[in-house]
Amino acid sequence: MVLKPKETHVAYRCPDCGTAVYGLVGDFIPASGMLRLKCPCGKSRMQIIPSPDREKIRFDVPCLFCRQDHHFSVSRNVVFGDRLFLLNCPYTNMDVGFLGPREEVDRAVAEQEKELAKLAGAFGVKRLRDLSPEESEEILPDAQVHDVIRFIVKEMEADGEITCPCGSGTYETGMTENGILVYCPVCGASHLFPANSVSDAERFLHCERLELTNPRKSPWKEGGQTP
Ligand SMILES: [Zn+2]
Ligand SMILES: [Zn+2]
Ligand SMILES: [Zn+2]
Repeated sequence: MVLKPKETHVAYRCPDCGTAVYGLVGDFIPASGMLRLKCPCGKSRMQIIPSPDREKIRFDVPCLFCRQDHHFSVSRNVVFGDRLFLLNCPYTNMDVGFLGPREEVDRAVAEQEKELAKLAGAFGVKRLRDLSPEESEEILPDAQVHDVIRFIVKEMEADGEITCPCGSGTYETGMTENGILVYCPVCGASHLFPANSVSDAERFLHCERLELTNPRKSPWKEGGQTP
């Protein structure tokens, strides 16, 4: 059986400068070593480390939101499969790593760019890097709390218990310094839960209806351009 040399494109977004950093990973990463993909700004890098039995490959990916690495162990077959594979931040569910054929990686990176611009708009920040606090561990709401709230929001959304001025019916959650923001990606109306503990999340469990307020005129507008 003749095996074709395999390779896959990988990308991540530098938490410091926001650049999408690309690399090519071959099947023959030295068993002992690791590959390092560095951002040209020098402030971040993704590490790619094969497991000793070479069945899996570990990706240490810098996260734009958490300001720390997330670790993903991905089966070799998936890494070198011919499909796009996304590595998600476990706290915010945003994609932090992209694997697959170059065109698909490009497309996913470009889509994320738009998504991030929306998020920046929703949180009222000018630059992407302002989305993540410097000292993430101390400031970010507990991931478990976020998961609970995200789950409840999805349930409430399904039951039509969340309303906003535009009535879009689809809502998102995101973490901010001050808690968890539930917002409408269409009109930008939002509600902030100062959620830093499980008891905060439990309080939210008893919330029956949620009315999002204060829509932004054009939440996604940056630099005065109309989308
Ligand atoms: Zn950079
Ligand atoms: Zn993260
Ligand atoms: Zn809305």
